[in-house]
Amino acid sequence: MNPWPDITAAIAHATGGAFRIEQRTPVGGGCINSAWRIEGQGQRYFVKINNSAFGGMFAAETAGLSAIAATRTLRVPHPVCHGTNRNASWLVLEYIEFGRKSNMRLLGAQLAALHRVTSRHYGWPHDNTIGATPQINTASDDWCAFWREHRLGYQLKLAATNGYVGRLQQLGGRLMNHLPELLSGRRPQPSLLHGDLWSGNAAFDAGGEPVIFDPAAYYGDREADLAMTELFGGFSAEFYAAYREAYPLGAGYARRKTLYNLYHVLNHLNLFGGGYLAQAEDMMAELLAEV
Ligand code: ADP
Repeated sequence: MNPWPDITAAIAHATGGAFRIEQRTPVGGGCINSAWRIEGQGQRYFVKINNSAFGGMFAAETAGLSAIAATRTLRVPHPVCHGTNRNASWLVLEYIEFGRKSNMRLLGAQLAALHRVTSRHYGWPHDNTIGATPQINTASDDWCAFWREHRLGYQLKLAATNGYVGRLQQLGGRLMNHLPELLSGRRPQPSLLHGDLWSGNAAFDAGGEPVIFDPAAYYGDREADLAMTELFGGFSAEFYAAYREAYPLGAGYARRKTLYNLYHVLNHLNLFGGGYLAQAEDMMAELLAEV
């Protein structure tokens, strides 16, 4: 069924004015949803659409974008509305024209500013998703327990249900037991994190200002965000230099980086399979070799 009449009505309701789509253009680059640029009466919006089961995911994405926007540290697309009907769910955002001029130093400094926004607990008021996988955000005061239960443990259990038993689970079980040693009493500030910060979720607007989008926000160790920027590359030396100038990193980041990126590699294993199994096992073996 055509979702556009309901989406158009929702935009009109949210903006308090009439809206009619004059032009609709598909936007590529997303992993999960179909994405569109829609235009009419001098307004432009970015719209993500999926089936009706994804309504909660779009509500959670809205909450993450709104929380990051409220910090006024880093530009994110302003959420316009989200909704669900019998056949579809959608998220409508401000459309941002991306440009070629990049300012990695500013992105590093602004990410540090975002990370200085903290909460009293680890977690987030609601669960959200990492890719299409549920991400559990139950509040906790114990970072090690949070990472063990809601991040690595959750993905390992999912991997078992996906048939990844044997060596992955053996290494995973041992790693969970050694987690307190690997984190060695670390009690980071619960920083506001983007949560899924790979280079595909960061860009620069036409004026060169950094923009981040598609968050999986929660309060946690800021090193987890930085680690992910290193997992798939795309962030320059100036980015890291500016971040460290603004908010220096503590000792031991290099080891924790592997522990934090293991979460994303396990998630990729659960979503895509393939070579991520060997990568996850290698990362676990590397971490276990240090205890
Ligand atoms: P998905 O949730 O499906 O992974 P993304 O949020 O990553 O989708 O968006 C897909 C692509 O659309 C991005 O790679 C980016 O190029 C572009 N995009 C994302 N948000 C906006 C926006 N607000 N305005 C314009 N383009 C956007």
